[in-house]
Amino acid sequence: MQSERFDVIVVGAGHAGCEAAAAAARLGCRTALVTGNLDTIAKMSCNPAVGGMAKGQLAREVDALGGYMGQATDAAGIQFRMLGRSKGPAMWSPRAQCDKDAYSAWMKHAVESTANLFPVQGEVVGIETFGVRRSAFGVDDIPTPDVIRESTNAERRTPNAERSISGLRLRDGRTLHAPRVVLTTGTFLEGLLHQGEMQAPGGRMGCAPSRGLSASLAALGLRLLRHKTGTPCRIHGDSITWAHCHEQPGDADPRPFSFRTARLHQTQVSCWECWTTPEAHAVIRANLHRAPMFNGQINSIGPRYCPSIEDKVTRFADRDRHHIFLEPEGRSTREFYVNGLSTSLPLDVQKAVLCAIPALANAHVLRYGYAVEYDVVAPDQMGHDLQVRSVVGLYLAGQINGTSGYEEAAAQGLIAGANAALSLGGRDPLVITRGEGYLGVLIDDLVTRCPEEPYRMFTSRAEHRLHLRADNADRRLAPLAAKAGLIDAAWAAAVAEKEAGIQALVLGVATPLAHRIAGEALDLAATTTLVPALAAADPAVAEQVWIELRYGTYLERQAATIVKLARFRDLPIPADLDYSALATLSTEGRLRLLKHQPRTLGEAERLPGVSRVDMETLWMRMQTRLQQQG
Ligand code: FAD
Repeated sequence: MQSERFDVIVVGAGHAGCEAAAAAARLGCRTALVTGNLDTIAKMSCNPAVGGMAKGQLAREVDALGGYMGQATDAAGIQFRMLGRSKGPAMWSPRAQCDKDAYSAWMKHAVESTANLFPVQGEVVGIETFGVRRSAFGVDDIPTPDVIRESTNAERRTPNAERSISGLRLRDGRTLHAPRVVLTTGTFLEGLLHQGEMQAPGGRMGCAPSRGLSASLAALGLRLLRHKTGTPCRIHGDSITWAHCHEQPGDADPRPFSFRTARLHQTQVSCWECWTTPEAHAVIRANLHRAPMFNGQINSIGPRYCPSIEDKVTRFADRDRHHIFLEPEGRSTREFYVNGLSTSLPLDVQKAVLCAIPALANAHVLRYGYAVEYDVVAPDQMGHDLQVRSVVGLYLAGQINGTSGYEEAAAQGLIAGANAALSLGGRDPLVITRGEGYLGVLIDDLVTRCPEEPYRMFTSRAEHRLHLRADNADRRLAPLAAKAGLIDAAWAAAVAEKEAGIQALVLGVATPLAHRIAGEALDLAATTTLVPALAAADPAVAEQVWIELRYGTYLERQAATIVKLARFRDLPIPADLDYSALATLSTEGRLRLLKHQPRTLGEAERLPGVSRVDMETLWMRMQTRLQQQG
C-alpha cells in the first residue's frame, strides 16, 4: 500500500491546522496537511467573525508571529469594528465580520502557495508509534502513594516518554510517515450532532465525524473528555423585518487586522440588532423537555460563556429579553447568522421561537441550529510547547485541546506547528510567557489548569492586560518570531525600525512634559499639540508614543511586576526534588505536583490544588538546596 514520508504531518485543515502547517513549512520542514475534505479548508463552522474582546488581541498576536489569520481577515472582511473604544487601549479589540467563502478561499490559496506545504485529502484513523514502553503508572490517573514510593524519580519525571510518533494510518489504507505530528481535529472526534430528538454522527453539519482516532489516542494512554458546543440557525436576509431592527454600521476609519496590511479598501456592510421577547421565552420554557441539554440527551460540558438560548432563558429567568445580532455571512449570499439564538431545540420549536420575535416572525430558515458533542484530549497532558508529554513528537492544537473559537485555535496551531519543526532541528521551543502575550496565557491556562469546560479567551484571564494590547502585538512578539525564523528579515527589520522610532520620540519628550501627559489623560490629538514631532511620525508610531506617555507610569509598574514575577516563576524545580519527602505539603498539593511534574515554581503555583502554604514549602526547600550547593 502507498506510503509517503514527511518531516511534519498536520491533521485537519481548520484554523489551527492551517497555521500549524504554514509555520512548520516556513521553518523549512516538508509538511503534509491532511484533511478530510480539501474544499472545507479554514471553514468557519460558526459565526464568520474574527476577533472581539481578547480574541482580537490573539488574532493580532498570530499575525505578529507570521501567521495567516490577520491577512485572511483583511482580505475577506465585510465589516470592521474596534470594540472597547470608550475604554483605555488595553480594552481595544478589533473585530471583523467576514465573507465565509472568501475567508476559506484566501486560506486555501495561501496554504497551496506556501513552499514545503503539501495538502492531502484523506481521513486519519490511527496513530503509529514505536518503542512503546509503559512506566510504573499511566498518565491519566493520579498515582496512589504506594505506586509513587515504588517508582523512581526518573520514571515519574518522564512517564511513558519512550513512545515516539512514527506516522499515521488513513482510512483508504495509505500510511504517512513523519517524526512529528500535529493533531487539529476540531469538533470532529467521534462527533455527534443534536437537533431536538434527532441525533446523527457528524463533525459539524454536512461533514462526517472522525472515527478511530479517539480510540488510537486512548490506546496511547491519553485521557479524553467530552465537550459540546452549539450554533444558531441561519436565515434568509430578504425575510427579515428590518423595521424591527437597529442598524450597526462598521467603523468609519476601519483598521486592518494584519500589521502587514497598509489599509483596507473594501466597502463595508452593516450588521443589525434586535431582541427576543417574553413570548419567545414562553415557547422555549414549554419545550425544555425536548431540549437535549435539559432532557439528559447531552451530558457533556458546553461553554458557559456562550450559552444556548434555552440555557439563557433558564439561567436568567428574570430577564424578559435577550440581545440578538443579525450578521451577514458574506457579500454574495443573503444568509444571515442569528447571533444569540444558539440552540439544539427541535426544528418546530426553533421555528416557533422565531415566529415570536417581531424582526424574525417571517424568517425563512436556511439552516437550523444544532449542537455537536465531540472528544477532546485533556490538555494538562501537554507541555507548554503543546507536545504531549508521554509521546515524543505528538503535538495537539485547537478545539481538540478543549478550546473554542477560531482565534484560540489559530494561536495554538501556530505554536504547535512551529515547535514541531523547531524540535526536529534540535532547537529550543517557542514558548510565549503570560507576560508576553494572550497566547502565553491561553497555553499556560490549558496545560496547568486543564479547564473542564470549553475554554475561550477573555481579557480578565490576563493579569498584564495593559501591556498585552492589540496595538503592540508586533512589538511584543515579532522579535521572538524573528529569532525562531518564523518571519522574514524585511518584516523583522520593519518592526525593529518602528521600535527605534518609538523609543527615540518617547525619550525626546522632556520629563516634566511626560509627567503632565501621563497625569492629564490626554487623547492623541491633544498629545500631538504638546509634542509636535508626533504630527510628522508614522501614525502607528505616533499612537504607540501616545500610549507610552499616557500610560507610562502604569506600564512601567506592570513591566517591573512582570520581571519580578518571572524571576520567581521561572525558577526551575530540580528534576530530582522528592515531593514525598516534603512533610508539610498538603496531600492534594503533593498528588498534583507528582502528577504534573511542574518545571518551574510558576507552573507549580498555577496548579489547582497547590496552596500558598505548598508554595512556601517548595520555595523554602529550594532555598535550602541552593544554600547547600553554596
Ligand atoms: P476545525 O475548524 O473544526 O477544523 C478541524 C479540521 O480537522 C476539519 O477540517 C476536519 O475536516 C479535519 N479533521 C478532523 N478529523 C480528521 C481526521 N481524522 N482526518 C483528517 N482530517 C480531520 N466557536 C466559537 O468561538 N464560539 C462558538 O460559539 C462556536 N460554536 C460552534 C458551534 C458548532 C456547531 C461548531 C461546529 C463550531 C463552533 N465553534 C464556535 C467553534 C469553531 O468552529 C472552532 O472553535 C474552530 O473552528 C476550531 O478550529 P480547529 O482548527 O480546532 O478545528
